[in-house]
Amino acid sequence: MPTTRLAPSPTGALHLGNARTFLVNWALARRSGWRVVLRIDDLDSPRVKPQAAAEAIDALRWLGLDWDAGPFYESDDTRAYRAALEALIDAGHAYPCRCTRSQILAASLSAPHAGEHELRYPGTCRPAGDRAADKALLDDPAYAWRLATPDAPVAFEDQFRGPQRFNPQRQVGDFLIAAKGGQASYQLAVVVDDTRQGVDRVVRGDDLLASTARQLLLYERLGREPVPLHWHLPIVIGEDGRRLAKRHGDTRLSTYRDHGVAPERLIGLLAEWSGLGPRRPMTSRDFADGFDLGRLGVDPIVFTDADDHWLLSRG
Ligand code: GLU
Repeated sequence: MPTTRLAPSPTGALHLGNARTFLVNWALARRSGWRVVLRIDDLDSPRVKPQAAAEAIDALRWLGLDWDAGPFYESDDTRAYRAALEALIDAGHAYPCRCTRSQILAASLSAPHAGEHELRYPGTCRPAGDRAADKALLDDPAYAWRLATPDAPVAFEDQFRGPQRFNPQRQVGDFLIAAKGGQASYQLAVVVDDTRQGVDRVVRGDDLLASTARQLLLYERLGREPVPLHWHLPIVIGEDGRRLAKRHGDTRLSTYRDHGVAPERLIGLLAEWSGLGPRRPMTSRDFADGFDLGRLGVDPIVFTDADDHWLLSRG
């Protein structure tokens, strides 16, 4: 059965932007008969906050979303990431890297293809030959691990945005698959998790569009299946054009809930943002019934102070 996942990162509370993506993902799944897995992406240990996973689950339930399996916690079983790392090392696709962040920064300033927000790794530690690295170094905290990334475009079809093409080498260079200490990076963990959970439908914010090319490369290098279909949705931004965040005020779902805002009201705003017509309170079920991907706008959604007032006004 086609399978998708809701995969919150418990690094902070869910806000309106997260809610819109999860609601659309869930509605697509429920309309299309896909299985829904709930996964808590809690590997990013220094940034993961205690309680945030439980709060995310509460917030999703409060919105009226449900799932068929999970919650699964990434941190519950990290052996699968280790096995994937070892497979990549054995195949000569991964190498150890001792560089510090400041070394990478200094070297990348002169790189011609530096991304806007991401540093391009200039390949300082990349070995000359193609001999497999020593797996024992996985236990040495001095080394992070990188994927030897070919200088070639990765093309794929986004189900919402159409044909895409990225060259991960030009954008970020040999990207990290494990941090120092062996913790799998987001790029590796998401591929391992999606394959072990049978996820073949990925719906997420379009801030992850470029990451998809890196993940597809990992699918190929690991020989994993199913390779998912992707839908990348516009994200919610503030009136300043930047991704919705604390600077735009407190848009956490828990804060609205604590102010007595009903989930139906919040979904009403998300519905207007998702092409269901003028805002009016509705349940998650009403949202799923009225949802039509063809009416979803392609531009980022702008959250305004007036939206905040409308939510809080109870009208
Ligand atoms: N957990 C990730 C996040 O919240 C999403 C992962 C994904 O959709 O691939 O940013």
